[in-house]
Amino acid sequence: MTNKIKILIVEDEDAISNFIATTLKSNGYITVLAKTAKEALTMVSSHCPDLILLDLGLPDIDGVEVLETVREWSSIPVIIVSARGDETEKVKALDLGADDYITKPFGTSELLARIRTALRHNLKRGAGVQEEVFSAKGLTIDFGKRLVTVDGNEVHLTQIEFKIVSLLAKSAGRVMTYDHIITELWGPYAVKDNQILRVNMANIRRKIEKNPAAPQYIFTEVGVGYRMIEE
Ligand code: CA
Repeated sequence: MTNKIKILIVEDEDAISNFIATTLKSNGYITVLAKTAKEALTMVSSHCPDLILLDLGLPDIDGVEVLETVREWSSIPVIIVSARGDETEKVKALDLGADDYITKPFGTSELLARIRTALRHNLKRGAGVQEEVFSAKGLTIDFGKRLVTVDGNEVHLTQIEFKIVSLLAKSAGRVMTYDHIITELWGPYAVKDNQILRVNMANIRRKIEKNPAAPQYIFTEVGVGYRMIEE
């Protein structure tokens, strides 16, 4: 490959940044490292990375502030790297424009999958591509015809249920926060009541999943939101 993808790793723990850098390099990516928020902001400008892996717990400034600063002028994909249990921080970062998150400790395949998804979505967004049909593991969603099928059988969804499923499918592979879904469906002034969303999700799962208790299409990210399986 002549045009390698460059990833900026913002992480103050050497063990983690070394692990990420080694993994990425052996998969054909170019990596640049920053240990502090200040360094990260300088490197975003000087290196023009294609994607940023951003640790939230940095020694100088909070990672969320780095994200906010970057988002003032750039739509570059940002994946948050966070510690387990930091749900509030993760949600805040996602609502501020992070593309996705990954929780420590994570494996190689999870890391690579998140990166591929974020890059792919960014490419599509840049090209203005809007897909007509989503399809994964027997689930098909025809956005234009408003038709959902599972293994070829039509599924009857209410208007709200269809909107939720479409919204998630259009960002397949990426997590979508509860607040984001509520805002998209009911507008920015809607009461952020996850209960309505949960009820709708339970109905959707009953209609599309073989086993609603062990979903294979729409996954729950506890305390954060939902994620549709990737195509
Ligand atoms: Ca850290």
